[in-house]
Amino acid sequence: MNVLVINAGSSSLKYQLINVETHTLMAKGICERVGSAQAFHKHGLDENEVVIDAKMANHDDAMALVLDSLVSGDDAAISSLSEIDAVGHRIVQGGKYFDRSVLIDDDVIAKIDELAELAPLHNGAALMGIHACQKHMPGVPMVAVFDTSFFQTLPPKAYMYPLPYELYEKYAIRKYGAHGTSHRYISERAAAVLDEPLEDLKLITLHLGNGCSASAIDHGVAVDTSMGLTPLDGLMMGTRCGAIDPAIVPFVMEHENLTAAEMNDLMNKQSGLLGISGVSNDLRSVRSASEEGNERAMLAYDMFSNSVKKYIGQYIAVMGGVDAIVLTAGVGENCEKMRRMIFSGLQPLGIVLDEEKNRHRGFERIISTDDSAVQIIIIPTNEEYMIARDTYEIVHDQEVGISAQ
Ligand code: AMP
Repeated sequence: MNVLVINAGSSSLKYQLINVETHTLMAKGICERVGSAQAFHKHGLDENEVVIDAKMANHDDAMALVLDSLVSGDDAAISSLSEIDAVGHRIVQGGKYFDRSVLIDDDVIAKIDELAELAPLHNGAALMGIHACQKHMPGVPMVAVFDTSFFQTLPPKAYMYPLPYELYEKYAIRKYGAHGTSHRYISERAAAVLDEPLEDLKLITLHLGNGCSASAIDHGVAVDTSMGLTPLDGLMMGTRCGAIDPAIVPFVMEHENLTAAEMNDLMNKQSGLLGISGVSNDLRSVRSASEEGNERAMLAYDMFSNSVKKYIGQYIAVMGGVDAIVLTAGVGENCEKMRRMIFSGLQPLGIVLDEEKNRHRGFERIISTDDSAVQIIIIPTNEEYMIARDTYEIVHDQEVGISAQ
């Protein structure tokens, strides 16, 4: 089954075409700056990638370009759109309605729309992607895969905020988490690498990229996560502040004369590594600057590792122990220096990084010492594969159900 995975952002449309049975990535690309005069379209696998300036007034135009690029040229991924069997959409906010991936119908679309209040940029964009697919590929089954659904297992003591209870009743203010598809994927793969059932393991999963999140996964069930009502909470990130004293918000708004939207922008786009270092949101640039003696860059680097360390401690306490700590995304997979700083001093907790293994590059790998009580594992994340797999399973089950009737 060929599944087209769509990840629609407010001004972008990312896609991959995956054959799920053979695990083959057939095509991938991204339309960026959709709606602006600078719009462009990148399409192709690795060295065959081409960048095309293209006019895209909206996601509908972008989808038409994507579909055209899949069937055009000498190295076309497919010869006809009829070879796309299903579409999987990444949806950021599934709220309380979705604790798993679902087949998209009118009711699902209405609920994604209703939940847009909690993720205005993301859910709105996903809906544009869904409508564009309905228009260009009528009749092709579509599945919604939610970033939040993996965290619907959190107990109330983890997902509630200690605010007046009425705010939860009135506005559904609670922790929903984010990056759930990534945490689900890396926890499953970590169990496979350890050759143990996921149901027997206590895992801490760390998605450390430009956005960062940590999760506690107790015997296969997510029991806590660092992102909250929105993806601003928790760990320090590239441009996001993560958890701060909430009283800072009204203080800064009053003293800097900022609106709520401006304050939101400051915390989401001007904080984190960028805000502290003044250099960049990109850890590589912050590292270079810190190695050249830039003190604010050094501070940013230190704060980032300390922020991760604190979540490791919290989640060991939440689960009463941990068997393995799993890292993924740009920083988690690639930055040996940050990993060294995160795990330094954790030896008394039975967490011992192997300096030599930490230096190795590679795919899925264990980087703790042989006698470390807690394993440290790197798993490159693959959210697109997870979306394709969910789509395959749901569409396949539906087809089996129909043929059995
Ligand atoms: P992601 O959001 O997963 O693409 O991750 C982006 C982050 O990963 C940026 O902060 C990058 O600087 C960081 N990153 C990617 N590669 C490396 C590397 N080789 N060393 C250090 N940081 C890296």
